Amino acid sequence: MGLHPSMASHCGGWFGKVTTATSEGALKQETAGTSLRPKAVKAWCGLRGEIAVEDELWHLVRVGGVSLPHPPLVNLMIRRGLAADDRLHFSYLHEFGHLQTLPLTGIHVLLLVWLSWRGTRPAGIKLLAGLLAHEAVWELASEGYAVLHAGRRYRRAYLSGPNRWQGLFWLGMSLLAAIGIWLVGSRRSPG
Ligand SMILES: [Zn+2]
Repeated sequence: MGLHPSMASHCGGWFGKVTTATSEGALKQETAGTSLRPKAVKAWCGLRGEIAVEDELWHLVRVGGVSLPHPPLVNLMIRRGLAADDRLHFSYLHEFGHLQTLPLTGIHVLLLVWLSWRGTRPAGIKLLAGLLAHEAVWELASEGYAVLHAGRRYRRAYLSGPNRWQGLFWLGMSLLAAIGIWLVGSRRSPG
């Protein structure tokens, strides 16, 4: 399904009108192909946006006409060695996961703000650590969504096409999230 680039997206109907949206069933069917066009999706909270995954080098997540800053590194690294249709399908679910988990990451931002009040490190360090931790948590949540949604297909694909980056992704992102959260909220000992 092709979309006009000016198509607005919204959460709760505040920001505009969306003319089309796909159901999860249709999404599944279309991601079985090897090439996808931008199409409208709707998250459980009502958030609507557009997602496209054309190949392993390019993908797009747009909400309210604004592209979410999101390097393709994750999909590039952890899809290596998988069959082409699995790569596209899991990458697509990962991108949709970013929309599905957006409200949860909002809670994470509130937690970071609260922690930064009690943290005593310089503001620049807290900001950088908070941004990195937030990105890491969002990547973990989105890939977690892909794992849950793809289920057995995900396990089968990674068992038949082992990918050493996958373990590094979960470990690295978890460490980044934990260290970032700690840096934001920790207190330097006086003196
Ligand atoms: Zn991602």
